[in-house]
This record gives sequence, C-alpha cells and structure tokens, in this order.
Amino acid sequence: MKIEKDRVVRFHYSVAEQGQEPVESSKGGEPLAILYGHGNIIPGLEKAMDGREAGESFSAEVPAAEAYGEKREGLTQRVPKKHFGEQRLVPGMQVVLNTNFGPRAVTIEKVGMSVVDVDLNHPMAGKDLHFDIDVVDVREATPEELEHGHVHGEGGHHH
Ligand code: ZN
Repeated sequence: MKIEKDRVVRFHYSVAEQGQEPVESSKGGEPLAILYGHGNIIPGLEKAMDGREAGESFSAEVPAAEAYGEKREGLTQRVPKKHFGEQRLVPGMQVVLNTNFGPRAVTIEKVGMSVVDVDLNHPMAGKDLHFDIDVVDVREATPEELEHGHVHGEGGHHH
C-alpha cells in the first residue's frame, strides 16, 4: 500500500544534521506511527514520504525552512535557576523545561548565580537535516483517527 493522505504510516527513522552523525534514531526500538497528510511530522519529511510504499527505504535531505524553521533571534529568556532542579548546567546543554505551555526543549546560554538565560529556539532550528527512513507498514486510518488527527494504538495515542 502506498503512502497517501489519511493513511497511517509506521516507519523507522534516523535524523542527522547534514554531514554529521545521527542525533536521534528509532532503530532498535518501536517505529514511529503517524497519520499522513495531517502535519504530524515536519513538512519536508512529509513531502519526501509521498507515494512511498511499505518496505521501502530512502533518504531525504530537508532544509531548515521545511524542518524546524530558521533560528530566530531574540528568543532568549531569563529563568530562575530553581526551575532546573539539581542538575549541573553548562552553556550549550539542552534541557527540558516545564513551561506554562508544557515541557519544552531549550538550550542553556548563560548560567548566573540565581538566574539562567535559555534559548527557546527548537534545538534543531536553523539546521538542514538528513533523514534515513524505513517504511514498516501503511494502512487506512480509522474514522476516529481521522477525526482526532492522530494515530491510535500501536505507536500512537492511547486514550
Ligand atoms: Zn485520539
């Protein structure tokens, strides 16, 4: 079955900044399940998957603008140090901060006595990415999945 809108795709991926070692991979674990054509993944990867079939493997080069966007200036925020708990903070390090909008990955810029400056850009913002994809299987989405806009069951939401 081919990948097209309103189908559920399960796939393994690894992602790297172009020319570098992979930073993240699902290989060896559970594949990722997405509802195709509903913006569940970055636009460049969704585009690269169009028309592929179960069992197919391919690579995709995705420019920053079609991945996590360009890095934006002025997204530095000063946060009280107590929000970081006991962990030792080093500039350049990525941590997950609990914000009013839920958990968010941020990059430590500067560590002061009682406050920490963090960069709120997505850690992959401004980066051109290389993906290696193995399509595991493709199936029709259920009406309920289409209504919710995401996958239920294996590799998806449970509720
Ligand atoms: Zn749901």
